[in-house]
Amino acid sequence: MGEVEGSGGMCICVDCHWVERCQAYHAVERQHGVEHLSADPDLCPTAPRIHVQVISLEGAQVGVEWDVRACGSFQLDPGRWSRLRPGEVVPA
Ligand code: SF4
Repeated sequence: MGEVEGSGGMCICVDCHWVERCQAYHAVERQHGVEHLSADPDLCPTAPRIHVQVISLEGAQVGVEWDVRACGSFQLDPGRWSRLRPGEVVPA
């Protein structure tokens, strides 16, 4: 294994150069029920590691959180998601 995972975590994609073109991030958006950055992403990333966590919600409900925690195609571009959606809250 050897992968370090912090509690709470956050999807690395929000700081990735490819975020609006990425098919894996598109799937994460769908799972989170948020609006897509792109309707038809064309980039298939190399070996994204998606961390899936079952979380407790109010009223004895459970939800599922999806986050990309590692990816072979990751290219650091700090704040890319925010620049694409100025003024919106970054998905956590
Ligand atoms: S980190 Fe990987 S999965 Fe996330 S947007 Fe970048 S290329 Fe896509």
